[in-house]
Amino acid sequence: LDVLPCKDNHCGYMTHTICTCMSSHVLHQSLICSLFNHNLVTQFGNTCYCNSVLQALYFCRPFREKVLAYKIQPRRKESLLTCLADLFNSIATQKKKVGVIPPKKFISRLRKENELFDNYMQQDAHEFLNYLLNTIADLLQEEKSQERQQNGKVVQNGGSGGGGGSGSSTGEGETEEKTQQTWVHEIFQGTLTNETRCLNCEAVSSKDEDFLDLSVDVEQNTSITHCLRGFSNTETLCSECKYYCEQCRSKQEAQKRMRVKKLPMILALHLKRFKYMDQLHRYTKLSYRVVFPLELRLFNTSGDATNPDRLYDLVAVGRDFNHGAFNNYSHYITIVKSHGFWLLFDDDIVEKIDAQAIEEFFGLTSDISKNSESGYILFYQSRD
Ligand SMILES: [Zn+2]
Repeated sequence: LDVLPCKDNHCGYMTHTICTCMSSHVLHQSLICSLFNHNLVTQFGNTCYCNSVLQALYFCRPFREKVLAYKIQPRRKESLLTCLADLFNSIATQKKKVGVIPPKKFISRLRKENELFDNYMQQDAHEFLNYLLNTIADLLQEEKSQERQQNGKVVQNGGSGGGGGSGSSTGEGETEEKTQQTWVHEIFQGTLTNETRCLNCEAVSSKDEDFLDLSVDVEQNTSITHCLRGFSNTETLCSECKYYCEQCRSKQEAQKRMRVKKLPMILALHLKRFKYMDQLHRYTKLSYRVVFPLELRLFNTSGDATNPDRLYDLVAVGRDFNHGAFNNYSHYITIVKSHGFWLLFDDDIVEKIDAQAIEEFFGLTSDISKNSESGYILFYQSRD
């Protein structure tokens, strides 16, 4: 590999080799980041996680491919998804080496759809991710149900009778639609199982719940493994928190634990770095050092998990930079893996970094008032 400094000024630290083999989207991605920052600084106040979340999502290949595939489908009325598809498409199809793609449409659509993002709070990166994924899933479900209704009409008009039957099938269809899987679910959805064991009769009851991302608590000088262990720790329900056991027909002490039953294709891990401090009466950002691996295998899976051995590779890290002197100052940066390279997007600079340099984004080992850079959303993509 030739490692030549890129002739293009806008390319910053990028080497020529990466430029050509990475295609231009990397550059455009960085320019978009810069624009996001600019727009959001003026429109949303001084904080926004949109840019880093969108960049990370762009580098989650299955997600990007679905969004781009949506773009070539027949046009529908404007939605957050059509705006996102346009945005991704202009990045992916850009032929010029350097250019500016204003994400204005996406941002104004976002503001139109949700007032929350008009007055954006610092701790809402995770909320934005959640909002975006859920909105896209809802749109896709709605489109599917509209398609089905239209098809149903065609069948009814052309069909011969069978009126009674169609009534009941519509009812079934509606419940089916609510639980219908979309590609957002196929990519991000996993299932947790919440097991409760009665300590009196030993009966175990379990309840499943789906998730699109996992939020874990952070502690100083720990690792993702530690966070996940904490997440799945056995909790004893006693005194006022006793559990009503159906078998014993009374309140009993019980043990509860949460484990992963279905592992998602892309695991989005959110580190809860914002914590409400009772003494301070406000949220504080925790810069704790939390080590995250490049390869991850979950261990907190349930006995009946369908794919417990899934091996994940880290593909993107949304990271925030916290200026020690100004607690409210934040700057959001994304690190992604693309074509085997680790790249750091920081406004209009794209920098190739070594995998070892990722260690710098684990966080701080002490709480001294210092600038810190710490990962807050990690995207792990399954190898299979
Ligand atoms: Zn019991």
